[in-house]
Amino acid sequence: MKSILTEKHFYDEAAAYEYVEARIWPNGPVCTHCGATDRIYPLKNVRSKPSKKNPEGVERHGLWKCYAKECRKQFSVTVGTVFEDSKVPLNKWLLATYLMSSSKKGISAHQLHRTLGVTYKTAWFMAHRIREAMNPSDPGPLGGEGKVVEVDEAYVGGKESNKHRNKRSPTKDRLYTKQIVVTLVERGGPVRSFHVANVTSKTVGKVIRTTASRASHLMTDSARLYPKVGREFAAHSAVDHSAGEYVRNFVHHSNTVENYFSILKRGITGMFHHVSEAHLGRYLAEFDFRYSNRVGVDDEARTNEALRGIEGKRLTYRRTDEAKVA
Ligand SMILES: [Zn+2]
Repeated sequence: MKSILTEKHFYDEAAAYEYVEARIWPNGPVCTHCGATDRIYPLKNVRSKPSKKNPEGVERHGLWKCYAKECRKQFSVTVGTVFEDSKVPLNKWLLATYLMSSSKKGISAHQLHRTLGVTYKTAWFMAHRIREAMNPSDPGPLGGEGKVVEVDEAYVGGKESNKHRNKRSPTKDRLYTKQIVVTLVERGGPVRSFHVANVTSKTVGKVIRTTASRASHLMTDSARLYPKVGREFAAHSAVDHSAGEYVRNFVHHSNTVENYFSILKRGITGMFHHVSEAHLGRYLAEFDFRYSNRVGVDDEARTNEALRGIEGKRLTYRRTDEAKVA
């Protein structure tokens, strides 16, 4: 059996550009400055400016020139994407995207740093940019007529013993330092998770109202949080875990959302024990992405789905960079 890692776009930068171009520009190159699709030609044998490390410069791949009258500018397929302005060769970006898309519980920045041969800091930036690509820019509502949307909340975060002394909780209360996540899963469909400051019927209700279609059948636990918002939906069932309702009724369960939480918790606690509150949303986007693309989607197709999300995320990823300073 052929290994995916022998694919040329994972080790050859020119091939990596061809791979991304085929996905972002299925109908041929599009000028990123003026939108022209004709009179665009590849620029060959262009080298970067000489540097101490590379006195001859290095060959620049994936360059195009637009010959439209008012434009005449150069560009590449990564302009305006989360891969822009990076010194990391595009083939390493593709490998990182593949590794993050294919490992069920995620891959740590430390592992990426070792596998890709980039610094830890670079690996950290890459991972956050790829999470932006995985974050859907305009997701439609979950559920709909005849569909079940399961909702539940969970507490995630690192073990106190993994944290630096001065970051540990001053109390013995485990929940004190855990972050609260509210997750909605369309049964057999996508998932969406939210980091909330506290769990009240107001905060949870807001998340549910803005995420799920009112035509859905809402499936929650029997917590006091849900009766009010539940009445706004086509149907609402509350699963009483203590009554062993799973066994009694196969429709009335929240196994899907619980399955999601078990993957999220193992990922967050096992490998991402340094996840800070500021970045939790991005980790959730990553876990949501993989889970939403689980049924009938192989690793390669999931990677390509992530690549489709690299566009139009510039502003968001700039915020990622700024967040690093804090
Ligand atoms: Zn142009």
